[in-house]
Order: sequence, then structure tokens, then C-alpha cells
Amino acid sequence: MKNKMIYLPVFMAFALLTSCKKETQSQNSDVAQTEKHQGKEISSEFDGEIEKLVSQMTLEEKIGMLHGNSMFSTGAVERLGIPELKMADGPLGVREEISRDNWAPAGLTDDFATYYPAGGALAATWDAEMAYTFGNSLGQEMRARDKDMLLSPAINMVRTPLGGRTYEYMSEDPFLNKKIAVPLVVGLQDNDVMACVKHFAANNQETNRDFVDVQIDERTLREIYLPAFEAAVKEGHAYGIMGAYNKFRGEYLCENDYMLNKILRDEWGFKGIVVSDWAAVHSTVKSLKSGLDIEMGTPKPFNEFFLADKLVAAAKAGEVSEAEIDIHVKRILRTLFQVKAMGPQSKNRVKGSISTEAHYQDAYKIAAEAIVLLKNDNNALPLKLDGVKSIAVIGNNATKKNALGGFGAGVKTKREITPLEGLKNRLPSSIKINYAEGYLERYDKKNKGKLGDITLNGPVTIDELDPAKVNEAVEAAKKSDVAIIFAGSNRDYETEASDRRTLKLPFGQEELIKKVQAVNPRTIVVMIAGAPFDIDAVSKKSPALIWSWFNGSEGGNALADVILGKVNPSGKLPWTMPKNIMDSPAHATNSFPGGKTVNYAEGILIGYRWFDTKNIAPLYPFGYGLSYTTFALENAKTDKTSYAENETITVSVDVKNTGKVDGKEVVQLYASKSDSKVSRASKELKGFKKVLVKAGNYETATIQLPVKELAYYDVASKKWVVEAGKYTLKVGNSSRDIKKEIAITIQ
Ligand code: BGC
Repeated sequence: MKNKMIYLPVFMAFALLTSCKKETQSQNSDVAQTEKHQGKEISSEFDGEIEKLVSQMTLEEKIGMLHGNSMFSTGAVERLGIPELKMADGPLGVREEISRDNWAPAGLTDDFATYYPAGGALAATWDAEMAYTFGNSLGQEMRARDKDMLLSPAINMVRTPLGGRTYEYMSEDPFLNKKIAVPLVVGLQDNDVMACVKHFAANNQETNRDFVDVQIDERTLREIYLPAFEAAVKEGHAYGIMGAYNKFRGEYLCENDYMLNKILRDEWGFKGIVVSDWAAVHSTVKSLKSGLDIEMGTPKPFNEFFLADKLVAAAKAGEVSEAEIDIHVKRILRTLFQVKAMGPQSKNRVKGSISTEAHYQDAYKIAAEAIVLLKNDNNALPLKLDGVKSIAVIGNNATKKNALGGFGAGVKTKREITPLEGLKNRLPSSIKINYAEGYLERYDKKNKGKLGDITLNGPVTIDELDPAKVNEAVEAAKKSDVAIIFAGSNRDYETEASDRRTLKLPFGQEELIKKVQAVNPRTIVVMIAGAPFDIDAVSKKSPALIWSWFNGSEGGNALADVILGKVNPSGKLPWTMPKNIMDSPAHATNSFPGGKTVNYAEGILIGYRWFDTKNIAPLYPFGYGLSYTTFALENAKTDKTSYAENETITVSVDVKNTGKVDGKEVVQLYASKSDSKVSRASKELKGFKKVLVKAGNYETATIQLPVKELAYYDVASKKWVVEAGKYTLKVGNSSRDIKKEIAITIQ
């Protein structure tokens, strides 16, 4: 029988290897890390060539490049050697090939890809290196499929836990969001592929997404909803941006001069291309003049798109000049040269590889770092197998596959290790697994509800348990030494195009969990989900609670390794898990989902900024996650006590591993200014560092905080302003667990 004695040395060896690597890394400052993830700007090297090409093109050929000529490509000009711009979804891996003129899968046999952990999982690693790995690995896969642009990353802010795309997105915090988004973009684009960062911007709900008019005050827009996009453009040099479906301040985002021309291009210097979300365009001349470059859409004759025949007519009628059209064509050509889709360098373009063991292992590494240990009373985990002869594995999620689903975020893959398979792979064969499905997925898609069509109650409520299934689960738990329940949601329940109606766990799972716990006190609960759920009652009753995600091709193996202790969990929540939905800012202010208009009434107080400022206890705070070891954060200090505006604050802290196994801790640095002349959140994340520390040892974590990160956006002067005076830096390991406060002064 394999037990802890066998697993721990494996873990130690693995940890030691990673430790050596980390130590070298931790000598690098954050500045060096950031430089490492600086993207390459779009070059003007081929501008002469581009001028020549454009001068030879007909109006129709030019306009052919400005709209879809298939579901996922724009028009080519073969006689001039200009290829189609070939795009593919999406955030969790390269989507299967779609037919050229409708949404049906093309039915190929060679379009399988690696399924990578979803956005929330990647953010939960709190590790920029993981984000680079993610982008780099996915970039390789894109090239193997001969694509030019990935429709990803998806980085809208998680404003409400109910958002249907919360799992695709990263975080409720703009700083964590940008620190994950930038290396992802760079890693991807290092492979001669363009990123298309989406959905720009203020697209934070699915309800009424086609028309809802989002109202956000200017300071909130700048401080909360734009920083990750801004960093993706200015630091990551993303070559593509996707305009969102909804309206912002009265204008659709694909014809929004303020967002596309003024902010994105004039202020941020964006040189890439703006691609519409699919069927998000509503006008011809206005869209073009407002900064849209390419219109993509859903089935209808492609020449009927707004930027197709209608644009030819508008140009002929003099409503738009050919010079204006040329601007957009040149932008597209520049990006095509940039990723070597054309031009002399195309023979050196990255060839890529797909569904390789190396890529599955990238997915594994990310998955393993993403899993969050929420509760572990009396060291119930890692599971000690001494004397364990049987394990009940309960729950539909033990066998549920989550790679497909969710429209553009689906991945057709040859490998998706489910939790049950992971356990079978990792447990000794002498241990008997008693599997029971426990609950049934139930949906009612007929009765359309205000917040989407999936979570409504029908004739049989979606929460109704099947007595036979419950009985089977209870019996399995009774006759087993240990029970593990895999609960949560799935990719049908959490999905694009609808928001969830409530935070409640669907399909009667709470009741099932109670029944299983009643017969087996050694019950571990594992949540598989991409967004917060109300797990207050479940949490209270469970000695051990793990949060996993839609966690990629190797998700089940990573999970089994965490359960059995081969991997020491180090994921941290990238958003707040509320006790009650009404505690969440968009709900507490009654400003979700709005109607025709939605006004973000909570302003800058999104996520933990609201909870911490209003002193509302969440169930699990932002940044929270346990380990199988314990850490002490000692000696937290800054290099000086007073700084000028152009300086960088160096914060160092000794991370001491006070437990018995090696582990990784994420040191988090928050800042606050209690006497600010503008209203501020009680704390804001301004830096973090994940460090691996051997048992009994310590590592010094160093975080660089440029003083300019302390600025607020001053609406009157339209500038970022660093207020002089006192600030408090707070060092901790979640937004609610601050170990040390350090006072500093900005001159
Ligand atoms: C989604 C995008 C996606 C596009 C193409 C849209 O419905 O909002 O994220 O990239 O479809 O599939």
C-alpha cells in the first residue's frame, strides 16, 4: 500500500528541484521579472512594403480584409501574397475547427488540443511564470494549427460572483489581473501569434450583454476596469483587442470613439488591430471612424456585414475616404508581418506542436499550483492511507468532463483526466473505490428567466435529488473508510451568455453532502467550479475542503496529487467567496444586472475592496489559501521610510516554513492611505510574490513596488496623482490576514 511514507519523499524531491530553480529566480528582482515579460512592439520595418501593397489594392480587396470572410478569418488578397488572418478561440486552449460559414464543428480528426486550466485557475496560481508558461504553451498549439490570432486572454473584471464567464476571467483585482495577463500575452506572442485581449471593456455581465449600457464613473473606469487592458497593451504589446458586445456610456463598444480612439490608441499608443466580438457591430462608417478595424460575426452572408458591401458603398458615396480605409488595412498588414504570416521572415515562423506530453505537463503544473485548500481541520489532508482499504468517490463531478462547453471557451481534447481517473491513476490498486454519482444535473432551458435560461426551476426543480442516487451514495460512504465528494458546478451551469441566478449550489448537492457526512465523518469535500458558490453550510460541516477549477487536461491528476500529498497546495483565491450574495458590492448596491442601463454603483469598491472597507466578513477572503505546512512572515521591512515619486519601494519579508513539509506561500502586499483626500478602499493589492520554502527553512521574499502604483486617477486633471504623505503598507497572506503594517512617507 502506498502511503504518506512513499509519497512524501517524491514530493520532497520534486520540491527540492523546484526549490533550486526558484532560488535562482528569487535573486532576480521583480523589475527583472517584468522585463523578462516585456512584449515586442509592432515593428515599422515593413512599412515601405506595406505602402507598396496598399497602392496596388482595389477598394474591394482592401475592404475584404476588414471583415470576416469565414467564421474565423478575414479576406486574403492572393494575387499580392496577402493571406487570410486566421483566428481561433479561446481562453482554455485552441478551439476545434469551426465550419467556414456556420457554427457547426468542421468535423476534423486532427484538431484536438490541450485543455488548459481556466482563467480563474491561472490567476489562483498567483504566479507570473505560470502565466508565461500558459501563453507560451498555447502559442505553440496555435502555430501547430496554423493560426495567426488567439481570441484570448479574457480579462474582464469579476464584478459579480454570478457572472457566467467568471471562470474564463481572472480576478476581482486589477493588479493581479494585469500581472497574470501581461506574461500570458508575451508568452503567446513569443510564438508568432497575436493575442486578442478581450472584451474591451466593461463587459462584466452576460445578462443583456448585447445592449446593456454600462455606466462607470471615470475614476473607477481607470482604476479598476482598464488597468489590465492598459498593461496588456503598454507592457505586453498585445497585437489585438476585441471590442465587447455591450454599450459604454451610450455607445456600443465597437463604435466607441472614447474607448477605441481616445484611450486605446491616443493615450496608450496601441498599434495593433481592434476586432469586434462576434456580431457586435451595429454601424458602418461610425464603427470604422471610431476605431474598429475588423468586423467578425455569426452566420449570414459575409458581404452583408457592416464593414463589407455597405462600406464599399459608403466609400463610393464619399462618406468615408479611401485614405481612412487604408489606415485600417495597413494596421492589419503590419500585424501580419509582425507574426511572420507574410513577408521574408515567414519561412522562419514558429511551427509549433500540439497535444504533446510537454504541453499536458504545462497544463498539469498550472493545475497543481491553482488548487486552493480552503479548510483542513486536524490535518485531515493530505489523506493518510494507513489502514484505508476503501474510498467512496461521490458526485457527478467525479466523472464530469469540462473541456467542452461555454461557446468560444470549449476545447476538443484527447486528454481530460477526471477526478475519479486521477484517483485511480494515483491510488494503489489495493484500495477499493466505491463510486456513486450522488446527484443528477438538471436544467430547465424552456422557461426563459431574467438572468439566463439555465438555473430556473421547472416542473422538476433543478435541485431535486434522485432518492436512488442518494441511497447509493450513502451506502458507498457507509461501507468505505473515507468518502470524497466532488461537488460544484460545470461548464453547462457556468457559461457564456447567461449569468447565474443565485450563489446556491445546484442539483441538491448541499443536501446530498449533509447526508454523506452524516454516515461518514471522514468525508472530504472537493469543489469543482470556476466561480464562487454559497458553501457556508458545507464548509462548516466539512473538516477538509478543497477548491479546484475547470482545471485542464491534467486536472484530475493534479487534484489526486494534492489530496494524497504529492503536491502541497499553494493556490490562493483570486476573488472573494462571499457568505451571501447580498454581501457582494454589485448586489448590496442593487446595481446588478440593471435593465437597459447598469450603473456600477459600488464604484471603486469592487470585490475585497468593498468587503474590507465596509467590514463585511466574507466566507473566504481574496488571496486566501492554506498549505500542508505553516508559514510565518517575519522581519517585514522596507528599504527606506521615505520615497520620492519616481522611486521604487523595496519590501522584503522572511517567509519561514514552520511546518514539516516543503511548501509555497504567496506573500501579498497591500497599501492604504487612511487620510487620502479622495475616498479609497481600505486596502489595495500592490505586489505579491510566490516563494517556495523548504521545511524548517526561510526564504526572503522581495517585492518591488514602484511609488507610481500608489497613485489614484484624478478626474479633473485627467492624470494619475501620487498624493504626498503617509501610507501604510500591509504584508500578509490574504486580504484579511495582515501580519505586519509598515508606515512609509511619500515626499
Ligand atoms: C464571445 C467571444 C468569442 C467569440 C467567438 C463570442 O460570443 O464573446 O469571447 O471569442 O464569440 O467565438
